[in-house]
Amino acid sequence: MSGSFGFSTLQKALSWARSKSLWQISTGAGCCADEVLNAIGARYDLERFGSVAQVDARQSDLLIVNGAISLKAAPYLRALYNEMLEPKYVLAIGSCANGGGLFGPKYSYATTAGANEVVPVDVYVPGCPPRPEAIMNGLIYLQEKIRRGREHNSNEA
Ligand code: SF4
Repeated sequence: MSGSFGFSTLQKALSWARSKSLWQISTGAGCCADEVLNAIGARYDLERFGSVAQVDARQSDLLIVNGAISLKAAPYLRALYNEMLEPKYVLAIGSCANGGGLFGPKYSYATTAGANEVVPVDVYVPGCPPRPEAIMNGLIYLQEKIRRGREHNSNEA
């Protein structure tokens, strides 16, 4: 009994620590990238929530996808995701990353219908583009999800 209590307490502590140290890498493929940069920058400062921008996927456990994903770019996005640390999480920012948006397959033969066709998305942030507050809100929602014990999404491609 005390052993399982200790284990679940440890799990909760680990989930809490994990949620507060999401090191992120961003694809920056669309105009939503400006809003992501805005959210990372001094005014909104995602670092306050423990989310630090990285340049190397191997040091990141949060992938922020924004912009339309072309069929040509999809394998590279997946390769980036595969390089990331486990457990890893994906935040899809804006209509294009969420479902293709203005450049989706309905209007173009060269794009995917959103990030979830390539990588397993944990949280979708709507908008075209979403404001930095919405991106911040998406991050906070993801942190809650991790604290509640969401295990790594095993949507292997
Ligand atoms: S959702 Fe809108 S703002 Fe964001 S990349 Fe697509 S077209 Fe640009």
